[in-house]
Amino acid sequence: MKTVGIIGAGAAGLCALRHALTASPNIVPVIWEQSKVVGGTWVYTDNIDKDDHGLPVHSSMYKSLRTNLPKEVMSFPDFPFPAEGDSFIPHAAMLRYLQDYSQNFDLERHIKFEHVVLEVVPSKPGASDTEWIVTVRDLTSDKLTTTLCHALLICNGHYSVPYIPSIDGIENFCGSTMHSHSYREASPYSDQTVAVLGASASGLDISVELCSVAKKVYLCHNLPIPFPAALPSNLEQKAGIVGVKQGTSNTLVLKDGSELEVDALLYCTGYYYTFPFLADSCGVTVEDQQVWPLYRHLIHCDYPTLAFVGIPTKILPFPLFDIQVRFFLRFLTGEMSLPSCSEMHDDALAYHNRCLQEGCPPKQLHLLASKQWDYVAELARLANLPNIPSEVRQLYELVHGIRKYDLLTFKQKKFVIGQDGIYREM
Ligand code: FAD
Repeated sequence: MKTVGIIGAGAAGLCALRHALTASPNIVPVIWEQSKVVGGTWVYTDNIDKDDHGLPVHSSMYKSLRTNLPKEVMSFPDFPFPAEGDSFIPHAAMLRYLQDYSQNFDLERHIKFEHVVLEVVPSKPGASDTEWIVTVRDLTSDKLTTTLCHALLICNGHYSVPYIPSIDGIENFCGSTMHSHSYREASPYSDQTVAVLGASASGLDISVELCSVAKKVYLCHNLPIPFPAALPSNLEQKAGIVGVKQGTSNTLVLKDGSELEVDALLYCTGYYYTFPFLADSCGVTVEDQQVWPLYRHLIHCDYPTLAFVGIPTKILPFPLFDIQVRFFLRFLTGEMSLPSCSEMHDDALAYHNRCLQEGCPPKQLHLLASKQWDYVAELARLANLPNIPSEVRQLYELVHGIRKYDLLTFKQKKFVIGQDGIYREM
């Protein structure tokens, strides 16, 4: 029997559990979740501070959030969303989907809720066939237990620990500051002038929402060209923020030297990858937003029984989790072998160097975007799994094209698949 540990019961952990339960009679999954419920970041809370057990709030959902992808492409392949209803769904519907997934595959009875993983240590540091000693605190009793796992899937999410860039003189800024992790609704910004820093999904979404109550919103970013969509009349795109004007001040200095006077600064600047439970002897580093050393963004090159699910960004999360998890389980069950540790290192390094040569900044090495299709196709091929269906890619790309020029209303659209297997707007 092989005990396979899973850390976290968000979408990735649930998917890992669902497949671990059926991968082989020899695999016994053990899954720990620090909160009381499944769903991870989709468990909305008004709270922005600490949860009932004094842990930092995990969820980064805001009240009005609707998905930025249509539900037709977001589901796990073996559990589609019901066809009726909107394509872009509120966070509560996404959570309901994960609860239904969990119920459908009878997952909850396996999950140790209110159990936080404190430490992971290799039983044989340096040996590629090491096992993992996992120390867990039961948050209801404070009792510590250790479990020896043959393998471990790390599914702790990476949208919880805010990344805040350094801004010269920020300590002198006398407006309010907040990270999107703690943003819940626009009303506190009524009649204010707000600078939003960062124009990825959250920055764009939140800026538009703020415009309904704020006097003026400046969307500050370092994109090479302005976002091309029509924007609300009180939203203006500006260069990224580099400093605060000397002396106590509400004046931000931008990269192009211009200045903005604002009441509030909202960081939509992303998140850190963090694995606070990994002992140094696990040999994992996170530098410049790169988790290292990972083979195919997934498997520790030196310790192939340690997998990190969901590291890539700008991807279709659930379908990618599903293929990553099944790829790893194929290896654990012996249905597929992996390259040697040194070959996995060479592969990881070659990918790293190729990206740098293509001009990709080091902090974007896990950002896949259009590369995601080749990535999942290759995992699927190696593990003899079905690839993501072509119509899913077609709709994903269609929506990205629409969103670029129609930021304000694209979430009102509904998509249906025709008899020819092509998705179109209804
Ligand atoms: P999480 O959902 O973060 O789950 C991690 C789980 O691990 C949590 O339950 C946490 O409590 C638990 N955990 C962490 N540490 C420990 C520990 N030490 N011990 C025990 N348990 C632990 N994706 C889409 O597909 N479509 C969208 O429209 C979309 N919009 C998004 C909007 C926002 C604002 C954010 C933040 C994300 C969005 N995503 C979207 C991406 C989303 O993160 C993924 O869809 C997915 O839910 C991530 O799942 P996860 O399991 O990797 O992480």
